[in-house]
Amino acid sequence: MTSQPLAIKGGTPVIAKGRFTPQWPEITEDDLKAVSQVIAAHDLTSLTRDGAVSRLEQRWAAEVGTEHCVAVANGTDALTIALAAAGVGPGDEVIVPALSFMASAMAPMHLGALPIFVDIDRDSYNIDTTKIEEKISARTRAIMPVHLHGLPADLDPIIALARRHGLVVIEDAAQCHGGRYRNRPVGALGSLGTFSLNVSKNLPTCGEGGLITTNDGELARAARRYRQFGETLIPGERRTYLHHHLGWNAKMSAPQAAFADSQLDRFHDYMARREHNVRSFLTRLSLLPGLIAPDHPEDRSHVWHILRFRVDPVAAGVGQINPGAFRKAIERALQAEGAPVSDYQRAPLPAQPVFQNPGPLLKGKYGLTPERLKQEYGLHQYPRTCEVIATSFTLQKVHLPPDAADHLMRIADAFEKVFSHLDDIVRLASVSKYHEPWTETLASAPLN
Ligand SMILES: *Cc1c(COP(=O)(O)O)cnc(C)c1O
Repeated sequence: MTSQPLAIKGGTPVIAKGRFTPQWPEITEDDLKAVSQVIAAHDLTSLTRDGAVSRLEQRWAAEVGTEHCVAVANGTDALTIALAAAGVGPGDEVIVPALSFMASAMAPMHLGALPIFVDIDRDSYNIDTTKIEEKISARTRAIMPVHLHGLPADLDPIIALARRHGLVVIEDAAQCHGGRYRNRPVGALGSLGTFSLNVSKNLPTCGEGGLITTNDGELARAARRYRQFGETLIPGERRTYLHHHLGWNAKMSAPQAAFADSQLDRFHDYMARREHNVRSFLTRLSLLPGLIAPDHPEDRSHVWHILRFRVDPVAAGVGQINPGAFRKAIERALQAEGAPVSDYQRAPLPAQPVFQNPGPLLKGKYGLTPERLKQEYGLHQYPRTCEVIATSFTLQKVHLPPDAADHLMRIADAFEKVFSHLDDIVRLASVSKYHEPWTETLASAPLN
């Protein structure tokens, strides 16, 4: 196989177009039955004592080991409502890693609070805990570590720092269902934890959903009010129509809850099979010099939501080349072989147009001066995030199905083939134009 020419140079791709690959989520008869049962039973509102939504809440609380779980419409609402329950409001600041999905930064903004970004750690891709304290100001109310790609952030130093400064910690665990940190489940360690049940996540529903976990009864009650127009509802009791404060309609629907509940029956089985499949895959890839496969420190698990691969031209023995151009050439060559690698986030969050077009931010409620804006959202502050984005690519979703083993072995074949042709890759990289991904992203982002 390794003597075959690369597909990007006209050779035969390792993975033929149209080859069958397992889909995610895996949907079974049981899932369909669970959804049709709640519909047939007219169990259509969120708020009955024994309905599908309460059932899912109770099971997820038991899973995470928290006293409370509050189901909401999606993972972004889970974050926004968790922040609101924790008292975050206009003018406050929330500390967020510079590499995450945009929802982590938008949730505080929906409350009139400002996300203040911290650079990431180059190995874990999570927030660099040594750089948090310098970002804490008199306005800081919360730290929001994100367990990115399924690897828990280093929570103990974050929680200790938050205690010293009187801040709340809200874990964004949208990508980390079932993850463990120092033998404790994520989502149970901060004041509040939030999960997404979006179809793309490790515990999916058939659409959108979110879960908030906490051990604090007061925070749980506040979260329940916020998802229901600021109203307190007691199952089985008459509605008061009394609205204590601003709230949302952010309830989860019963069919979505029933689907996720049915998926939860197989969650541990799927997680174990994914662990096996991904380990076998990564064992092969870790032999390729210059490819840095995802890994985890011994004190925490990785639930492999996204697999991010970084390349290092020096370790690959082609040290003279621009690392970003090297990454791009490898990524294109892999795609030509039929390996479904892609980017996940092409810009640090502070490089997004919402922060780089200063008009609305300066006119808004954030108390920003032009100098602070330039300082906080200037890319010079986020060198590790920039480096990681320039030199890495990802596999998403394809490794999640329990029967992905075979497909992953073919993808490993493609990696091995590409890495056995590094001379071609270097040539390809030196003749193609290379721009940093975030400059391309911003240039191609007209408002309409
Ligand atoms: C998916 C995701 C969210 C948002 O969840 P939705 O259910 O899509 O709203 C928040 N944070 C991170 C890190 C995510 O990956």
